[in-house]
Amino acid sequence: MKVYLDNAATTPLDPEVFEAMRPLMTEKFGNPSSIHSHGREVRSLIEVSRKTVSELLNTSPSEIFFMSGGTEADNTALLCSVESLGIDHIITSKLEHPAVLRTAESMEKKGVELDYVQTDGSGNILLDHLESLLKKGKNSLVSLMHANNEIGNLVDLTEIGGLCREYGAKFHSDTVQTIGHLPHDLQSLPIDFIVGSAHKFNGPKGIGFLYIHHETKIHQFVQGGSQERNMRGGTENVYGIVGLAKALEISYSGMADHRKHMEGLKKRMITKLQREIPDVWFNGESADFDKSLYKVLSVSLPETAGNEMLLFNLDINGISASGGSACASGSNIGSHVLTELDTDPNRPVIRFSFGKDNTEEEVDYVVDKLSEIISVGV
Ligand code: PLP
Repeated sequence: MKVYLDNAATTPLDPEVFEAMRPLMTEKFGNPSSIHSHGREVRSLIEVSRKTVSELLNTSPSEIFFMSGGTEADNTALLCSVESLGIDHIITSKLEHPAVLRTAESMEKKGVELDYVQTDGSGNILLDHLESLLKKGKNSLVSLMHANNEIGNLVDLTEIGGLCREYGAKFHSDTVQTIGHLPHDLQSLPIDFIVGSAHKFNGPKGIGFLYIHHETKIHQFVQGGSQERNMRGGTENVYGIVGLAKALEISYSGMADHRKHMEGLKKRMITKLQREIPDVWFNGESADFDKSLYKVLSVSLPETAGNEMLLFNLDINGISASGGSACASGSNIGSHVLTELDTDPNRPVIRFSFGKDNTEEEVDYVVDKLSEIISVGV
């Protein structure tokens, strides 16, 4: 049996999405910047896709910019805010994705003040501390992810965005893990930038988007032609854009059902793990259905379970998941997220992340194999 439980890393391409992309890889090959009919035909598909995305997110097409993925969109939001808006203070957390952390660190080297908002032992953002950082009264940009990719912890975008507005700060959220999985109403969210990546919601890899609020004006990060209304140079990834829009449409139409299904799988896994593996824990808020994204479960196993060998043994049993542990002292290869939590750095961690096509049988198989591997000792 082969089981894929690593859907926070990437998801399989939906066959319907592939069919929507196919004509752009074959007969519709024009360059969307060309003014002849071959170009115009492809240009119009890009604009239809932009309209689809903006309608699903309840915003205007002029606020959606396609780019190569979540990483580029995060980089653009941070770097270009500093350069275009005179941001002199970035507030983020130590639990962010490297696309944000590395960019914020590079801005610090250029003289921007960098503060990390404190988190509690379960990885929740401490809002009082965020407010005290905002009170420094600088020209701040707050960057806090919507759902953490390792432990699933969610933040309340409305609450944080409200606080940012109160202090005149810009607000960026890396929403890569939640786009296509939770609804976003951009008309009512107090936010300047959000980010999407198609391969996290059964779309193609190498394509994503940045939403920029219409009152927030930044210049382009990738310099070049005037594509994407001067916000991103380079010939558009046209089949990616069409695929992204189709994948988002499918995600929205099935969102409630997919959510219910994946919550059921997560519940089943938690219950079965607790029954079969004594001393199992769940990291962060990942076992709390209100405080974490339903597709992520971060499992902390007894120290005796070994570490690298555990993932290897799952792999030879056909199970794909992500591994990790907190950085133990003297080691620099652990997870920067788990290190921030109240957790034992010596315990091995496996992140299981569910997709809409996973089944209960797969969950049962995985827990059975895992407890077998642990009881034999690795
Ligand atoms: N941000 C988060 C939270 C992610 O999980 C990822 C992907 O792993 C990214 C950003 C990067 O997205 P992309 O792979 O589209 O560059």
